[in-house]
Amino acid sequence: VVKLSNVHKSFGTNKVLDGVSFEVGRGEVAAVIGQSGSGKSTALRCINALETIDGGTIDVCGHAVHDAKLDRRSLRRDVGIVFQSYNLFPHLTAEQNIMLAPTCVKNKSKAEARDLAHDVLRRVGLAEKADHFPEQLSGGQQQRVAIARSLAMQPKLMLFDEVTSALDPQLTGEVLKVMEDLARGGMTMILVTHEMAFARKVASQVVYMHKGKVWETGPGAMLDKPNTAELADFVGSGL
Ligand code: ATP
Ligand code: MG
Repeated sequence: VVKLSNVHKSFGTNKVLDGVSFEVGRGEVAAVIGQSGSGKSTALRCINALETIDGGTIDVCGHAVHDAKLDRRSLRRDVGIVFQSYNLFPHLTAEQNIMLAPTCVKNKSKAEARDLAHDVLRRVGLAEKADHFPEQLSGGQQQRVAIARSLAMQPKLMLFDEVTSALDPQLTGEVLKVMEDLARGGMTMILVTHEMAFARKVASQVVYMHKGKVWETGPGAMLDKPNTAELADFVGSGL
């Protein structure tokens, strides 16, 4: 479903992605880990064409993302992305936040969009919060609404960039649970995370990035037996 081949990306003279390659198959969950500044968010943003790349190729659900002729709208219909900050519209309820894109982008009727909103809110455990405004929800609940909002677009691929970093441990747990359920349900996902236990348990593939390169990759168990000193250091540092 997703394939990065020899991707290069610089910001000015700062080489941020230095020949990044990895592949994620349908229904797989890839966890991208690594030190701050190693290029994780940039890699994710390139997958969704939020950044253009300098070299290499990125294929996502049949879209050639590196191609100058890329149809961004159609790419983004297939790919949902959730960030650390949830960016819900404060003047809209949870349900209204979720209904927005399906009605505006996909031309769904209000009734259809409302049904969809209830369905995805149920999936993230917030069926009873449909009429709440963001400020009436906890951080974890707001993040789950943000995930639900992405799901309402029925994406083929979900990208998550440190979606639990701003949350305290208890709220982190409820968001991770939603992501684990999604993984179990067969959603293809790429997530940048500092939650090593979650990566070990849920990821079919862990991608360790270091200095803009994929330094090491393998199943979750590789975190218990790193092949490189850098990954051993990273895991040992408790991050
Ligand atoms: P963190 O764990 O802190 O989120 P990261 O691995 O996600 O780190 P990136 O955000 O991908 O790291 O950043 C990698 C490098 O690219 C950093 O040196 C950063 O300063 C630089 N960078 C990222 N975005 C831009 C930008 N829009 N313009 C210039 N430099 C950028
Ligand atoms: Mg980042």
